[in-house]
Amino acid sequence: MRHIARPILAGLSLLLCVIICWLWIRSMSTTDAIDRTRPAESRDSILSLYSWRGSIVLERRAEAPASWNRKYAGWERRSFPSAHTWTSEYLHSARIAAGFDLLGFWFCPAGFMDASGLGTPVRASAWLFGIPDWAIALLAALLPLSMMRAHFVQLRRISAGRCARCGYDLRGISGRCPECGQESCFHSA
Ligand SMILES: [Zn+2]
Repeated sequence: MRHIARPILAGLSLLLCVIICWLWIRSMSTTDAIDRTRPAESRDSILSLYSWRGSIVLERRAEAPASWNRKYAGWERRSFPSAHTWTSEYLHSARIAAGFDLLGFWFCPAGFMDASGLGTPVRASAWLFGIPDWAIALLAALLPLSMMRAHFVQLRRISAGRCARCGYDLRGISGRCPECGQESCFHSA
Protein backbone atom coordinates (compact mmCIF):
# COMPACT_ATOMS: atom_id res chain seq x y z
CA MET A 1 0.00 0.00 0.00
CA ARG A 2 2.85 2.33 0.90
CA HIS A 3 4.40 1.65 -2.52
CA ILE A 4 1.32 3.12 -4.24
CA ALA A 5 0.49 5.84 -1.68
CA ARG A 6 3.85 7.62 -1.87
CA PRO A 7 3.99 8.17 -5.66
CA ILE A 8 0.32 9.25 -5.68
CA LEU A 9 0.97 11.69 -2.85
CA ALA A 10 4.11 12.95 -4.61
CA GLY A 11 2.11 13.41 -7.84
CA LEU A 12 -0.64 15.37 -6.08
CA SER A 13 2.01 17.41 -4.30
CA LEU A 14 3.69 18.21 -7.61
CA LEU A 15 0.32 19.20 -9.09
CA LEU A 16 -0.31 21.54 -6.14
CA CYS A 17 3.16 23.04 -6.65
CA VAL A 18 2.43 23.69 -10.35
CA ILE A 19 -1.01 25.22 -9.58
CA ILE A 20 0.45 27.50 -6.89
CA CYS A 21 3.26 28.64 -9.21
CA TRP A 22 0.68 29.39 -11.91
CA LEU A 23 -1.51 31.32 -9.41
CA TRP A 24 1.61 33.12 -8.19
CA ILE A 25 2.39 34.47 -11.68
CA ARG A 26 -1.30 35.14 -12.39
CA SER A 27 -1.80 36.99 -9.06
CA MET A 28 0.53 39.80 -10.22
CA SER A 29 -2.13 40.94 -12.69
CA THR A 30 -5.30 39.16 -11.61
CA THR A 31 -6.80 38.55 -8.19
CA ASP A 32 -8.90 35.40 -7.88
CA ALA A 33 -11.32 34.82 -5.05
CA ILE A 34 -13.64 32.13 -3.79
CA ASP A 35 -16.25 33.35 -1.30
CA ARG A 36 -18.80 31.60 0.82
CA THR A 37 -21.46 34.00 2.09
CA ARG A 38 -23.85 32.97 4.82
CA PRO A 39 -26.45 35.64 5.56
CA ALA A 40 -28.18 35.27 8.92
CA GLU A 41 -30.71 37.14 11.04
CA SER A 42 -28.21 38.47 13.51
CA ARG A 43 -24.89 38.50 11.67
CA ASP A 44 -23.77 37.73 8.11
CA SER A 45 -20.61 35.69 7.82
CA ILE A 46 -18.33 35.67 4.80
CA LEU A 47 -15.36 33.39 4.26
CA SER A 48 -13.05 34.34 1.39
CA LEU A 49 -9.95 32.79 -0.11
CA TYR A 50 -7.90 35.12 -2.32
CA SER A 51 -4.97 34.60 -4.63
CA TRP A 52 -3.51 38.08 -4.40
CA ARG A 53 -0.08 39.50 -5.30
CA GLY A 54 2.04 36.43 -4.60
CA SER A 55 0.09 35.14 -1.66
CA ILE A 56 -2.97 33.19 -0.62
CA VAL A 57 -5.12 35.18 1.79
CA LEU A 58 -7.86 33.74 3.96
CA GLU A 59 -10.42 36.22 5.25
CA ARG A 60 -13.18 35.67 7.77
CA ARG A 61 -15.64 38.57 7.98
CA ALA A 62 -18.72 39.06 10.13
CA GLU A 63 -21.01 42.04 9.83
CA ALA A 64 -24.47 43.35 10.56
CA PRO A 65 -27.01 41.92 8.09
CA ALA A 66 -26.53 43.73 4.78
CA SER A 67 -28.81 43.57 1.75
CA TRP A 68 -25.91 42.95 -0.67
CA ASN A 69 -24.90 39.77 1.15
CA ARG A 70 -28.33 38.31 0.30
CA LYS A 71 -27.44 38.56 -3.38
CA TYR A 72 -24.24 36.57 -2.93
CA ALA A 73 -25.50 33.85 -0.58
CA GLY A 74 -23.66 30.57 -1.06
CA TRP A 75 -20.50 30.01 -3.08
CA GLU A 76 -19.16 32.60 -5.48
CA ARG A 77 -16.05 32.79 -7.63
CA ARG A 78 -14.58 36.14 -8.65
CA SER A 79 -11.66 37.32 -10.76
CA PHE A 80 -10.63 40.93 -11.14
CA PRO A 81 -7.54 43.04 -11.94
CA SER A 82 -5.04 43.14 -9.04
CA ALA A 83 -5.00 46.92 -9.12
CA HIS A 84 -7.65 49.60 -8.70
CA THR A 85 -10.46 47.69 -7.11
CA TRP A 86 -12.05 48.03 -3.74
CA THR A 87 -11.00 44.51 -2.65
CA SER A 88 -7.37 45.03 -3.70
CA GLU A 89 -7.19 48.27 -1.76
CA TYR A 90 -8.81 46.58 1.21
CA LEU A 91 -6.32 43.69 1.14
CA HIS A 92 -3.47 46.15 0.69
CA SER A 93 -4.52 48.26 3.67
CA ALA A 94 -5.03 45.10 5.76
CA ARG A 95 -1.50 43.97 4.90
CA ILE A 96 -0.10 47.38 5.91
CA ALA A 97 -2.09 47.28 9.17
CA ALA A 98 -1.07 43.67 9.89
CA GLY A 99 -0.12 43.05 13.49
CA PHE A 100 2.24 40.32 12.33
CA ASP A 101 4.19 40.34 9.07
CA LEU A 102 7.25 38.14 8.61
CA LEU A 103 8.70 36.74 5.35
CA GLY A 104 5.35 37.23 3.63
CA PHE A 105 3.30 35.55 6.38
CA TRP A 106 0.92 38.08 7.89
CA PHE A 107 -2.07 38.27 10.13
CA CYS A 108 -4.46 41.20 10.54
CA PRO A 109 -7.49 41.46 12.79
CA ALA A 110 -9.57 44.27 11.27
CA GLY A 111 -12.67 46.22 12.11
CA PHE A 112 -14.09 48.59 9.50
CA MET A 113 -17.20 50.06 7.92
CA ASP A 114 -18.20 47.84 5.01
CA ALA A 115 -19.46 50.04 2.18
CA SER A 116 -18.88 47.48 -0.56
CA GLY A 117 -22.54 47.29 -1.54
CA LEU A 118 -25.34 49.71 -2.28
CA GLY A 119 -27.07 51.05 0.81
CA THR A 120 -25.99 52.07 4.28
CA PRO A 121 -22.48 50.93 5.26
CA VAL A 122 -22.43 48.32 8.04
CA ARG A 123 -19.89 47.70 10.76
CA ALA A 124 -17.78 44.62 10.04
CA SER A 125 -15.20 42.71 12.00
CA ALA A 126 -12.70 40.55 10.19
CA TRP A 127 -9.42 38.75 10.40
CA LEU A 128 -7.12 38.07 7.50
CA PHE A 129 -4.28 35.59 7.23
CA GLY A 130 -1.78 35.67 4.38
CA ILE A 131 0.60 32.89 3.32
CA PRO A 132 3.19 33.55 0.60
CA ASP A 133 2.93 31.39 -2.53
CA TRP A 134 6.66 30.58 -2.37
CA ALA A 135 6.17 28.86 1.02
CA ILE A 136 3.31 26.68 -0.26
CA ALA A 137 5.19 25.87 -3.50
CA LEU A 138 8.34 24.96 -1.54
CA LEU A 139 6.41 22.71 0.85
CA ALA A 140 4.58 21.04 -2.04
CA ALA A 141 7.88 20.45 -3.88
CA LEU A 142 9.58 18.69 -0.93
CA LEU A 143 8.02 15.25 -1.39
CA PRO A 144 8.47 15.03 -5.20
CA LEU A 145 12.07 16.29 -4.85
CA SER A 146 12.93 13.77 -2.12
CA MET A 147 11.46 10.95 -4.26
CA MET A 148 13.48 12.09 -7.27
CA ARG A 149 16.62 12.22 -5.14
CA ALA A 150 15.98 8.68 -3.82
CA HIS A 151 15.48 7.50 -7.40
CA PHE A 152 18.84 8.98 -8.52
CA VAL A 153 20.62 7.46 -5.51
CA GLN A 154 19.24 4.03 -6.54
CA LEU A 155 20.34 4.49 -10.16
CA ARG A 156 23.82 5.51 -9.02
CA ARG A 157 24.09 2.47 -6.72
CA ILE A 158 22.97 0.07 -9.47
CA SER A 159 25.43 1.52 -11.98
CA ALA A 160 28.23 1.20 -9.38
CA GLY A 161 27.39 -2.48 -8.82
CA ARG A 162 25.81 -1.87 -5.44
CA CYS A 163 22.48 -2.91 -3.93
CA ALA A 164 19.78 -0.40 -4.93
CA ARG A 165 18.19 -0.56 -1.49
CA CYS A 166 21.10 -0.59 0.98
CA GLY A 167 24.21 0.19 -1.11
CA TYR A 168 25.98 -3.10 -0.26
CA ASP A 169 28.75 -3.98 -2.74
CA LEU A 170 27.30 -6.76 -4.96
CA ARG A 171 30.24 -7.18 -7.32
CA GLY A 172 30.95 -10.90 -7.59
CA ILE A 173 27.61 -11.77 -6.01
CA SER A 174 24.57 -12.94 -7.95
CA GLY A 175 21.00 -13.30 -6.72
CA ARG A 176 19.74 -11.56 -3.60
CA CYS A 177 21.66 -8.95 -1.61
CA PRO A 178 23.21 -10.73 1.42
CA GLU A 179 22.79 -7.55 3.48
CA CYS A 180 19.09 -6.72 2.98
CA GLY A 181 17.65 -9.50 0.79
CA GLN A 182 16.80 -7.22 -2.12
CA GLU A 183 16.59 -8.99 -5.52
CA SER A 184 19.72 -7.85 -7.31
CA CYS A 185 19.50 -5.78 -10.49
CA PHE A 186 23.22 -6.13 -10.97
CA HIS A 187 25.05 -9.29 -11.97
CA SER A 188 28.79 -9.11 -12.38
CA ALA A 189 30.36 -10.92 -15.26
ZN1 LIG B 1 20.89 -4.61 -0.01
